[in-house]
Amino acid sequence: MTTTKAYFFDMDGVLFDSMPHHAIAWEEVMKRHGLSFTARDCYINEGRTGESVIREAMWKARNRDATPDEIEQIYAEKSAYFHQLGEAHPIPHVAEVLQYVQSCGHQIWVVTGSGQRTLIDSLHALFPNVFDNARMITAFDVTHGKPDPEPYLKAWERSGLPKEQCYVIENAPLGIRSGKAAGLTVYAVNTGILTREDLAQADQVFDSMAELLEFLKQ
Ligand code: MG
Repeated sequence: MTTTKAYFFDMDGVLFDSMPHHAIAWEEVMKRHGLSFTARDCYINEGRTGESVIREAMWKARNRDATPDEIEQIYAEKSAYFHQLGEAHPIPHVAEVLQYVQSCGHQIWVVTGSGQRTLIDSLHALFPNVFDNARMITAFDVTHGKPDPEPYLKAWERSGLPKEQCYVIENAPLGIRSGKAAGLTVYAVNTGILTREDLAQADQVFDSMAELLEFLKQ
């Protein structure tokens, strides 16, 4: 008999290849407002709220806090630009990972800081019969987002399984911190422009979903 496990999948950069679009949109809109924010800044800060990255960029550029109007304006422009860039595609080979995990009878969860309804809804279209709405923790379910452990702790509690049987799949430093702070095993998959060192807090780092799949099959 195989032991039931639960796999907690992050969304941006793990299920969807949406990070390049986030990076392009942030960099361009920040530049428009005289602020500096590189693609690397975007990947390193993945998971933080828009408000907090705007405030930090303002402190760096002008040595003052951003006003609520500036935050609202910049974030609205960024969201509009992000949507203009079109739909994100699945991360290569993640569908096979999901299929494999499902075929083993393990639980599949989505644990994301995103509150983008359109992205969350399109999970069902892109990966039919994989996700269950009762097994999704999104921005709407938590008080404190990643790197706080709350999102992953919530998923673990609802899974009903011991922590040793729960695995986090992440691509971002703050997501890895969240999973580790929750006391879970974290597998990082480097799907973007970061280095292995950036992801070194994970229990294991993989260079692709194909590599993770081979590991899971062993
Ligand atoms: Mg991510």
